[in-house]
Amino acid sequence: CGIVGIVGTEFNVGELIDDLQKLEYRGYDSAGIAYICDGTISVTKSLGRIKNLREKIKPVRSLAGIAHTRWATHGAPNDINAHPHTDCTGKIALVHNGIIENYVELREFLKSRGHEFKSETDTEVIAHLIEEHFDGDLYKAVLMTVKKLKGAYAIAVMHADFPNLLVAARKGSPLVIGKAPDRLILASDVTPIIKYTKDVVFLEEGDLAILKDGEFKITDSNGNLVLRKIYHIDWDE
Ligand code: GLU
Repeated sequence: CGIVGIVGTEFNVGELIDDLQKLEYRGYDSAGIAYICDGTISVTKSLGRIKNLREKIKPVRSLAGIAHTRWATHGAPNDINAHPHTDCTGKIALVHNGIIENYVELREFLKSRGHEFKSETDTEVIAHLIEEHFDGDLYKAVLMTVKKLKGAYAIAVMHADFPNLLVAARKGSPLVIGKAPDRLILASDVTPIIKYTKDVVFLEEGDLAILKDGEFKITDSNGNLVLRKIYHIDWDE
């Protein structure tokens, strides 16, 4: 599938759909978007191509958003199974590329802790695990969550209370980050990013990233800050 996320100065959520469109070749059974507006997360999903999603989107402005075009592996292609997925509080939203191999046991554990599931996807366990670990620090909750995941993932996560923040992580699925003057952007490949900046960073296996207040930081899976090489992309859109 394809994932994209933006955080920075206010943008029209339609821009996020434009960025997602560049990744449509990666999956096209359904698509969805989540963004933060007035301290609340709004989620819109649609079965089928991205153009169906675009028709549902209102021309609102937001400081942070994530979007996904799905290639279903667990759970039929439908509106409910489309990403983004949310936790029980509706304050945490995430998009995921990959497969969580131990999702059945994680889901049983989370159900025993009172979590209610809406979809049939492997992905939804990640949202509830983040909720389970969240104590005010989204990065820390994601760091603790990915330690419990077996399989492949590239994820982008946001929280309604932090419209200046996206947290990302990857293992087995690609994730690229770019920093433009007005926004930070992450995506499954460079194609949505080069419109904003030609300098990109590829997350390495096990890396996490914090995109916040115009800067991004990368850590390894133990939470240690790491520096990754900046690549200059020489081609145009
Ligand atoms: N395994 C997830 C799902 O089926 C993500 C699939 C994808 O990478 O599009 O929803």
